[in-house]
Amino acid sequence: MVDAGQPGAATAAGAGIVCPWVDHEEDEAWYLLAREGARHYGELPLDESAHATVGALLVAGDWSELEPSRALLAGRRAEAPEMGEVTEVGRAADLFPPLDPGLKALFVPGAARVDGRAVRDSLLAAAVRQGTTIVRGSASLTPDGTVVIASPPTDLASPFTNLPPSTELASPFTDPAAYGPVAQPVADAVIVAAGAWAGELCRPLGVELPVFPRRGQIVHATMAGSDTAAWPIVLPTQGPYLLGFPDGRLVMGATVEEAGFDPRITVAGMAEVLSGALGVAPGLADATVTETRAGLRPVMATGRPLIARVADRVVAVTGMSAYGLTAGPYAGLVAATLAMGDEPPLDLAQYGL
Ligand SMILES: Cc1cc2nc3c(=O)[nH]c(=O)nc-3n(C[C@H](O)[C@H](O)[C@H](O)COP(=O)(O)OP(=O)(O)OC[C@H]3O[C@@H](n4cnc5c(N)ncnc54)[C@H](O)[C@@H]3O)c2cc1C
Repeated sequence: MVDAGQPGAATAAGAGIVCPWVDHEEDEAWYLLAREGARHYGELPLDESAHATVGALLVAGDWSELEPSRALLAGRRAEAPEMGEVTEVGRAADLFPPLDPGLKALFVPGAARVDGRAVRDSLLAAAVRQGTTIVRGSASLTPDGTVVIASPPTDLASPFTNLPPSTELASPFTDPAAYGPVAQPVADAVIVAAGAWAGELCRPLGVELPVFPRRGQIVHATMAGSDTAAWPIVLPTQGPYLLGFPDGRLVMGATVEEAGFDPRITVAGMAEVLSGALGVAPGLADATVTETRAGLRPVMATGRPLIARVADRVVAVTGMSAYGLTAGPYAGLVAATLAMGDEPPLDLAQYGL
């Protein structure tokens, strides 16, 4: 596995909401991938910190605003009993104390929050246990699908100096000192899972993937002394979402911006997230801002993820957009099945170019 450690990798910035049943009303194929992705979490070899079923509150000022969600969930429950029984919460702040006390909610107990970095590292650790070699370096493809790896960068500093110190670099799997000399692997099959960068990688094959980056800026804060670990995810009808993590950590996000390959934190981005979060949860006013993150969601112009063979030996999997922490691990499994020449577990005609 070759990874360039790009600043702006989406997985390192993602919020961590896994609640597929409330979205993609108009796109059954997308919904199916996200739903199966959420289910697949039960089979992943994850560290305990990586995943927790905490439920989600769909919040609004008025019950009538929640009717479309209620109807959608009711229609999907039979096929997705893992969402659990949806109940009304008259005062959402009883479950997520910083919320505006006037907000009502529908509670979806099956929703989970994940820590994208912990999921990534658990999966990398499992791959290493099974014999995978992980190389820090920039890969490119020749027209016949041969992988060429540029030497790992000696200077890992990001060109974007205002990025927060990245835990990417602290990871044992991405520390270049952990590797020996980089050999060019001779691969029978190649899977391009390079997020927003997948287009650039596939270009030498003569294939133009319509994938582009959509920036998300996100804020982490801490409420000292609050037991935030079991707080549910908050999904407002308007404004940013909120998540609790252990140790008083809260996550608020995120912006949705067309800004090219530019994973910076901007003044306007922070203003949007923070003022929106305070509108929903005024009780966050005194929380300490501890970290900001920016990531580039890989988005397909077709609106749907891509899982397809794009050349003789090359499979591409990208375009998970705002749902890649939910759908990504499962999409990876599907892509691996395809690369191995086995029968994929779902109809891939819907996830083509
Ligand atoms: C702010 C934000 C919030 C989000 N919240 C959620 C959420 O709550 N729930 C959810 O389900 N999803 C969420 N997402 C979406 C999710 O994070 C992404 O869809 C998912 O992480 C995409 O994964 P990926 O592996 O395709 O791309 P990435 O994580 O971007 O990974 C691409 C990898 O390719 C590598 N790479 C690129 N080019 C090369 C090259 N030439 N050689 C070698 N390696 C290369 C990069 O270094 C990088 O590691 C969020 C995203 C953002 C930005």
